[in-house]
Amino acid sequence: MTLPFDNSYARMPDRFYARQAPTPVRAPTLIAVNRDLAERLGLDPDWLSGPEGVEMLAGNRMPEGTTPIAQAYAGHQFGGWVPRLGDGRAVLLGEVVAPDGQRFDIQLKGAGRTPFSRGGDGRAWLGPVLREYVVSEAMAALGLPTTRALAAVTTGETIARDGFARPGAVFTRVAASHIRVGTFQFFAARGDIEALRLLTDHVIARHYPEADGPLGLLRAVVAAQAQLIAGWMAVGFIHGVMNTDNMAVSGETIDYGPCAFMDAYHPQTVFSSIDQQGRYAYANQPQIAAWNLAQLASCLLPLLGEGDAAIDTATEAVNEFVPTFQQAWLQRFGRKIGLAAATEADLPLIQSLLSRMADNGADFTRTFRGLVTGAARDEFIDPTAFDAWEPDWRARLAGETDPQTMMAQANPVRIPRNHRIEAAIAAGVEGDYAPFHRLNAALAHPYDPDPEFADLEAAPLNEERVLRTFCGT
Ligand code: AMP
Ligand code: MG
Ligand code: MG
Repeated sequence: MTLPFDNSYARMPDRFYARQAPTPVRAPTLIAVNRDLAERLGLDPDWLSGPEGVEMLAGNRMPEGTTPIAQAYAGHQFGGWVPRLGDGRAVLLGEVVAPDGQRFDIQLKGAGRTPFSRGGDGRAWLGPVLREYVVSEAMAALGLPTTRALAAVTTGETIARDGFARPGAVFTRVAASHIRVGTFQFFAARGDIEALRLLTDHVIARHYPEADGPLGLLRAVVAAQAQLIAGWMAVGFIHGVMNTDNMAVSGETIDYGPCAFMDAYHPQTVFSSIDQQGRYAYANQPQIAAWNLAQLASCLLPLLGEGDAAIDTATEAVNEFVPTFQQAWLQRFGRKIGLAAATEADLPLIQSLLSRMADNGADFTRTFRGLVTGAARDEFIDPTAFDAWEPDWRARLAGETDPQTMMAQANPVRIPRNHRIEAAIAAGVEGDYAPFHRLNAALAHPYDPDPEFADLEAAPLNEERVLRTFCGT
């Protein structure tokens, strides 16, 4: 079997990565191959699911054409600068060029130690692997840019996590690229202008061929991130660890660690156990994204010309984040309440609904979907809070052509709820992957009502509610 690899990143200078093969594991067993994605990439799903494929997915055997590397990057973690992070437990096998000419990274996460592992063991356990599989595929099905899940395998080894012996697993991640804001930071911090130029050219060629030089690139990344974060907000997604090393310049969602979809709406919601200050709370995400983009801008400064003029252009480019985000947010939330083209005059109507939801513990997903079915008021502790809002909304809807369809396409029926993910993980640890597979099947069509999956629409009962998520690594 020859895979269509063409590894452009491995042709970059040595200081961009460390050559690193995955560390073989004892007894690889397949959990899942994403057949649709495999076909989209031009890979044979039957081969991937067979003995040779599974050996590759576990990191035990590198097919011809791979050039395994661990990528170098730096980053601000919770605002604190770390000059050297890099792939500490991920190995990029290479890039596959799909039949339509699009290029995708194929990366094994949990593939063993690398020169960037620091104190870590280079491994992943089953829980976070299943979580990333479910949530990243759900994100794609919701229509938002994201890295994808190609496969998951168990290793037949146990690893120590939080005082427990956990089953080891390897996750195969597919991405437009794994180049991060932190990749630029790695070279900028070293004053390596040549590397910054090469990286900039590489990213432009790969992701933004229409961009004119480093400034065009910066503008394009700002726009892509503004659209992405507005998309997250519209589905109630909380990334949880928006460090600069976890922001992909492609504009895809990356690094599903302590992420979560909100159940009850509250703007200050935080799930991540390590986010004690609430830096990455739901409502903070746009500001944090803008802050991360300012870091990217400062990396590009040496390529933008001299002195104050360069600073002014860079600042202007980053400042575009706010209006682009606000417009994208307004359009998305407008559609969520049935408006084909919301304007600023509609903001108070949208904000009023959101603040009533927050005051009333209303489930984010069910309330918006309930606007389609008429069940929204049931989500409010005090349903009269909804009743007081409804007439203004109905009056505004009067001029719309087809608000029902609009809302049905903007408001998912099902999201990957935390308590369901945790139940799927608990079953998986016992060797039962049926709940995991069922969750994936249900989330592949998140906007379509389906009686077979009605139970997955439910909000968690009080005792089922998950309040904390863990990096879990
Ligand atoms: P994250 O919080 O997932 O963005 O990871 C931050 C950094 O820690 C990255 O450089 C990772 O490669 C590294 N890392 C996370 N988990 C491990 C692990 N188990 N072994 C080695 N490095 C790790
Ligand atoms: Mg990361
Ligand atoms: Mg992570």
